[in-house]
Amino acid sequence: MAMPTHVKTVIIGAGIHGLSTAWHLAEKLEAQGKGGGGDILVIDKTGIAAGASGIACGVVRNNYFQPAMRELMAQSVEVWESDPKAFSYHPVGYMQISPESMRADIASIHAQQQDIGYESAFIEGEAQSMAYMKGLFSDWRAKGITSVLHEKKGGYANNTAAIYGLATKAENLGVRILSGITVTGFRAGHGSAAVTAVETDKGAIECEQVVVAAGPWASKIWDMLELPKTVSIKGPDGKVHEGIDTWRYWCLEEGTLGVDPELQKTNDGKMPPVIHVDTDEPLYSDVDGSLITEEMWGIYYKPDFNFGGIQGGAMPYKVETPVDKVALDPYGPESPEFIVDDNFAHMWCSALAFCQKRFEGQIKYYKNEPSGGLGCFTPDSFPVFDRFRENVTFIADSNHGYKMIGVGKLIADELLGEESRLLTPFRFSRFAEGKLHPVSNSPFPWS
Ligand SMILES: Cc1cc2nc3c(=O)[nH]c(=O)nc-3n(C[C@H](O)[C@H](O)[C@H](O)COP(=O)(O)OP(=O)(O)OC[C@H]3O[C@@H](n4cnc5c(N)ncnc54)[C@H](O)[C@@H]3O)c2cc1C
Repeated sequence: MAMPTHVKTVIIGAGIHGLSTAWHLAEKLEAQGKGGGGDILVIDKTGIAAGASGIACGVVRNNYFQPAMRELMAQSVEVWESDPKAFSYHPVGYMQISPESMRADIASIHAQQQDIGYESAFIEGEAQSMAYMKGLFSDWRAKGITSVLHEKKGGYANNTAAIYGLATKAENLGVRILSGITVTGFRAGHGSAAVTAVETDKGAIECEQVVVAAGPWASKIWDMLELPKTVSIKGPDGKVHEGIDTWRYWCLEEGTLGVDPELQKTNDGKMPPVIHVDTDEPLYSDVDGSLITEEMWGIYYKPDFNFGGIQGGAMPYKVETPVDKVALDPYGPESPEFIVDDNFAHMWCSALAFCQKRFEGQIKYYKNEPSGGLGCFTPDSFPVFDRFRENVTFIADSNHGYKMIGVGKLIADELLGEESRLLTPFRFSRFAEGKLHPVSNSPFPWS
């Protein structure tokens, strides 16, 4: 397919957000009799699902301490549920299993889920939590747990299959998706900051609007747009903190235990919900009994036929390298630097055995393949969805985003002039205005 030199809308990035935006925009234009996706072009320097969306564990949950995140996730779950087959979506549910220090946070999440009609059960108390978990898995044995939030919706999707499902929907409406085209800069003119053309390694594409959905490469495109490298943040105490880096990187640690996925079936033979456990109990090695950590820790896991085993992860770690020097490419499993090591396998498999006896002694089946990858985070670790330079819509999900398949629908509304109430809490101006999202007691930067 030849590269066009002029289109109305250029979308940078063929991951979950770029393709969801393309599909929904085309659908809305088609409904309005305005030609569907014929004037929408998605470009990607590598190809469909080449970024974070193609390596994500694919967990879809509502469990967020921040009300604005929860509402957004509920909207996204509706999109997942709209076509489970095309999105390879498994609505098995999701469980947040927590220690006493998180009980009040999770209780408030449950109460607010009831308010927005998101079905979940909440179990409180150590004995009650143990009994509830044993009712699902007879070998459950995680200690120090005093609450269980069981979301009946959500679950997980197969990472690349869902992204290809989105691409098909967009292409069926006339959207063009071109691989192997790298954005190198932006052109402006007529005395305004608005972008008039996207410059690429294959030539310039004149356009009327741009959507940036570059995932971990958000910071690179941000720099090309000459947007601020630092921000001022008004803290809860009213004090303004100057010169905070706009972006930072964390490395996500995930892996697969290569056992039969059916090993994790529930007592009644069903595929189980996604399990997420946080605890402040010490974690000991399942190999030699040595102490791994006395700090609060957390893991998540699910049986997954796509990955071929029990797949999941643990807390990410912060990348200390200055943002401009972080080696983003090659990305994901091909990265020589940002993949998991033996320490992760040891910790994660020991944590699985801490939770369920069936995982005792199974570390030998851990798949020793490169996995994990970088995520690009904002100063408060929550997304920025906003418009810059008059006609550039920026989708920076701060690594929350595989589950956020519905954000593209809301962005499409905004591209057509309708401001989205659900996206409003995620504007860039929140930092200067001090309209920050509440912080939870979870050990993860994204809960
Ligand atoms: C290991 C891991 C596990 C995760 N697990 C989950 C999970 O279970 N649930 C969840 O909700 N989220 C998860 N996430 C986060 C989630 O994957 C991301 O937030 C989301 O996929 C980002 O989507 P995106 O469309 O913004 O970016 P991406 O999917 O990264 O797509 C961006 C695309 O932009 C292209 N691109 C970049 N620069 C340029 C350029 N200059 N020119 C042209 N194209 C360019 C890239 O090639 C890429 O294909 C995980 C992330 C990681 C790393």
